[in-house]
Amino acid sequence: MAVRLDGKKISSDIEQEIAAEVKELIARGMRPPHLAAVLVGDDGPSRTYVRNKMKACEVVGFRSSLIKLPEDISEQELIARIEDLNRDDEVDGYIVQLPLPEHISVEHIIDIIDPKKDVDGFTPSNFGKIDQEHHSLLPATPMGVMELLKRYRIETRGKHCVVVGKSHIVGMPMGILLAGPGDATVTICHIYTRDLATHTRMADILVVAVGKPNLITADMVKEGVVVIDVGINRVPDGTKKKGYALRGDVDFEGVEPKASYITPVPGGVGPMTIASLIINTLEAYKKRHGLL
Ligand code: NAP
Repeated sequence: MAVRLDGKKISSDIEQEIAAEVKELIARGMRPPHLAAVLVGDDGPSRTYVRNKMKACEVVGFRSSLIKLPEDISEQELIARIEDLNRDDEVDGYIVQLPLPEHISVEHIIDIIDPKKDVDGFTPSNFGKIDQEHHSLLPATPMGVMELLKRYRIETRGKHCVVVGKSHIVGMPMGILLAGPGDATVTICHIYTRDLATHTRMADILVVAVGKPNLITADMVKEGVVVIDVGINRVPDGTKKKGYALRGDVDFEGVEPKASYITPVPGGVGPMTIASLIINTLEAYKKRHGLL
């Protein structure tokens, strides 16, 4: 039976390490790091993600600010609010929670985020430095996956890693991190991949970031595979108070017996994404204060 990769526990360890650093900074008379979050509209999952990010700030002793904006805000108004954050010396890092309403171009918004405050690692400047030794702020979710593998001492060098999904925020940077610093051989699959199972069966490490429950079934993986399930899907479930259960993209019950390691959903990659945001915010803060 597979070892479950406990993202909740590892992220909590990381938060404790960072909380200790923040205490030291404050003891030296410095202000705490400050993370801001911009939330546009009223999307349920987005509200939950942002709330969890703000909670993590509290745990580590960061200051946090939530900027809630209406669904019908214009792109120009949103840009003005982001430019305010770029100018604000008291803000070390910020996130713009995705998805944005359809009338707003995600590319336009990402383009104006100050790369030094881009703790999600989405800007072209940070994306372009992913595989550099002295990289800047890495994309939070793939960074969290790399940290999870590292803390469980799962070697990526020389392994065949298969990433399913090629989004700008998860799949593509994940592939670059695994092939670059991870020294792995990487296959990136997506919607146009012919015969997905042929590829997934070759994976020593399989990372799935699609958004489709049960996309990966037991017959699609080999014995001993390491499975990282990034997907978060709300699946109707009458037995739950909220009426839904959270599921990943992998048929967990079917795949777990064949895997050597596997992430649960929830409690695997999700908390690691938040830990990465916290690490990136501290890094942005240190750079701003000349501590790095
Ligand atoms: P996205 O932008 O919708 O990208 C999904 C990717 O999956 C696309 O590259 C798409 O291919 C590919 N795809 C779709 N159907 C496929 C199929 N049948 N076979 C193979 N590839 C397929 O989503 P995302 O933002 O990357 O997020 C993916 C999932 O991860 C979502 O469930 C999201 O909620 C979750 N997520 C979790 C975290 C976390 O912290 N745990 C963070 C971010 C996202 P094309 O590019 O060819 O269309």
